[in-house]
Amino acid sequence: MQEIHKRSTRVVDVGGLKIGGQFPVVVQSMCATRTTDIDATVRQVHQLANAGAGIVRIALDNEKEVSALREIRAQCPGIVLSVDLQENYRIADKVGPYVDKIRYNPGHLHHIEKAKSIKDKVKWLVEVAREHDLAIRVGVNCGSIAPDFLRRYPGDQLTALVESAAYHCELLDELGFTRFVVSLKDSDPFKVVEANRRFAARRPDVPLHLGVTEAGLPPDGIIKTRLAFEKLLAQGIGDTIRVSLTLPYERKHEEVLVGYEILRDVAAGRFISVPDFGTGLNIIACPSCSRVENERFVELAQQVKELAAYASKYRLTIAVMGCRVNGPGETDDADLGLWCGPTTVNLKRKSQKLGTFSYDEVLPRLKVELDRLIAEMSESSQAS
Ligand code: SF4
Repeated sequence: MQEIHKRSTRVVDVGGLKIGGQFPVVVQSMCATRTTDIDATVRQVHQLANAGAGIVRIALDNEKEVSALREIRAQCPGIVLSVDLQENYRIADKVGPYVDKIRYNPGHLHHIEKAKSIKDKVKWLVEVAREHDLAIRVGVNCGSIAPDFLRRYPGDQLTALVESAAYHCELLDELGFTRFVVSLKDSDPFKVVEANRRFAARRPDVPLHLGVTEAGLPPDGIIKTRLAFEKLLAQGIGDTIRVSLTLPYERKHEEVLVGYEILRDVAAGRFISVPDFGTGLNIIACPSCSRVENERFVELAQQVKELAAYASKYRLTIAVMGCRVNGPGETDDADLGLWCGPTTVNLKRKSQKLGTFSYDEVLPRLKVELDRLIAEMSESSQAS
């Protein structure tokens, strides 16, 4: 494959795989299976690796899952594994022996051990990384920016995002730790472009992991991802990519295939053109991960898309999230939000909770709310 010309960052070793410098952009992906379901997760790790994923990420957030990870590691020899610490950075030393890289989210460090400083928490993570020969990803996300940075830059999420990432780089610099990459993600591809451009100008030495979170169902999820990746990769920004798509388990490897397709097209100078994209209905959906408690989530996201098709010309956002951990926060900015629990779905209008419904009942209620929103929009446009 023709290579993309990249800016030259430092090179980070992840289990023998090189990220950054003039090494080819690494396509990676993430398991959506429950980590404690060892057979399903092993199958998915191989499925993603066989499709060409250079790194496969697994999400863990409690110690009970560590024994499953040990077994998964044993059954996936030679595959570079990363673990997402999600909201529990304290499990880093438990997972360290079984993976090659850990991802921590600066926005989730304040949740536990509140008396301990952020600096001390990062210092501990670096000690764990050094002990177990791990690389680190500092993964900031618009939906979970550290409260300190939101307070410091009120109303300017993008600056808060970039400054939070830059601050963590400085903490790692002070500790003399260079084996790290950074990601700055959002569900809006234009924000992803701007955040990564700003960060790359600020820290040209640090390799970047690109991603558009909650891009959603194909084909729109692919278009959103392309809008961000093409612009950045064409400028030499991006050393590893993850395409996040809402897909059933058996099709999860398509994330990897799409990633390679984007790299091939950018290298060949082929770019998509979607002049009207982003002017009508926007459905965002998380790619799902081990936290999904009801596999009907992916089907629900598809049903929401079909149900809302009649509203395609309205500039509205509907968010569909797979779990109760990130679902409530990540739906706050959407006009209508749904987040899934084990047997029920919570429906929201912006941050206001509208109720909890069964998987069957939620769709008719969503339709009622969508009709109401459209009627309100029509009234306000007639009044103005
Ligand atoms: S919203 Fe929940 S289920 Fe979806 S990717 Fe995020 S953590 Fe995983």
